[in-house]
Amino acid sequence: MTGAAALRGQFPLFGKVPRPFHYLDSGATAQIHASALEAMQAFDTTARANVQRGTYPLAEAATGAFEAARGRVRRFLGAGPAEEVVFTAGATAALNLVARAFGETLAAGDEVVISVAEHHSNFLPWLQLRDRAGIVLRVLPVGADGRLDLAALERVVTARCRLLAVTHCSNVTGAVTDVEAIVAAARAVGARVLLDGAQAVQHGPVDVAALGVDFYAFSGHKAFGPTGVGVLWGRGELLAGLPPFMTGGGMVGEASLEGAEWLAPPARFEAGTPPVAAAVGLGAVLEWMGGLPWGGIRAREAALARRLLDGLAGFPGLRLLGPMDLECRAPLVSFELAGLHPHDIAQVLGDRGVAVRGGHHCARPLLAALGCDGATRASLALYNDEADVDALLEGLAAAVRILS
Ligand code: PLP
Repeated sequence: MTGAAALRGQFPLFGKVPRPFHYLDSGATAQIHASALEAMQAFDTTARANVQRGTYPLAEAATGAFEAARGRVRRFLGAGPAEEVVFTAGATAALNLVARAFGETLAAGDEVVISVAEHHSNFLPWLQLRDRAGIVLRVLPVGADGRLDLAALERVVTARCRLLAVTHCSNVTGAVTDVEAIVAAARAVGARVLLDGAQAVQHGPVDVAALGVDFYAFSGHKAFGPTGVGVLWGRGELLAGLPPFMTGGGMVGEASLEGAEWLAPPARFEAGTPPVAAAVGLGAVLEWMGGLPWGGIRAREAALARRLLDGLAGFPGLRLLGPMDLECRAPLVSFELAGLHPHDIAQVLGDRGVAVRGGHHCARPLLAALGCDGATRASLALYNDEADVDALLEGLAAAVRILS
């Protein structure tokens, strides 16, 4: 029962929205799977209490559910101890956490390398750090197909480099990063690697150990889970050496007017009441994902992406962004169509029940580098099928007729 239709049946929203409905915006927010909803409902109706604080049975049950969710995230990521998993409010919060906490360990003149392909969430925190702490921000360019220009690594990564912070998968071009090359360049100068996995996680479990990175960030809502929760995974010894990014309840041992003693990670980075129910929902959905036959699902996603790319290529004046080789891209396709504004295209498609995203995709430096003013993006996930792709292509033909 892992065909697209059977999977779609496990996402309650698809049974409730008016038809026709073709959801091609999972790159922005994927639909939520029943397992997450059920787990959150069960938590809130049988185990809801604050975590890591109370000693009565309900509070212990809440803490148990929260920590079990941490263990499930650990398994999904192929990570070591569960203590290396920090719950955050999302990928943006996780990336800012690294920029703030790891940033505290950097001195003026130290270098951080990002790529021009970064989502603003993995670009603006580093820009701020540059302006605040005097670090040098170096930028890895992309080639014409939007893939990171790995040949430039030698020039961009210097002996002063302390961190390479790059996307695992671009939210505009779908290009998947050659992580091995990034890690090798970092190791050659003793630098760390942060991977922004926001767009990667909905296409299957990750293996941070095999990737060899030091930090990995993602959001729950892009992995078929709830909004308001995300994850920062970091190597234990690294997290242990970082100061907190936010301070408050639940992250401090001794505290007096003279000073405070931070708890060990992950508590050190989870100040205040964490998004407990959402974390429980995320744990459940990642467990469900872990049991899916990803070989078949990825092959189906790639075949749909091929159908979409081939169909789009037939439109006069249409420019596809990103690599054409499906081996190195996620099933996420952005394009611009000469003379038509992406917002107008998205509006016409939306009126026909086809949900896509139009605009700059929070990646202005990348769009500038690609010479693109704005793009329309269709992002496919495991519940999409040929009918979704064909509805997009038909809707686009209608948009061309209406808007030209
Ligand atoms: N990084 C990438 C590549 C993204 O696509 C996004 C969201 O679109 C983010 C980071 C930020 O994710 P969130 O808004 O869930 O924090």
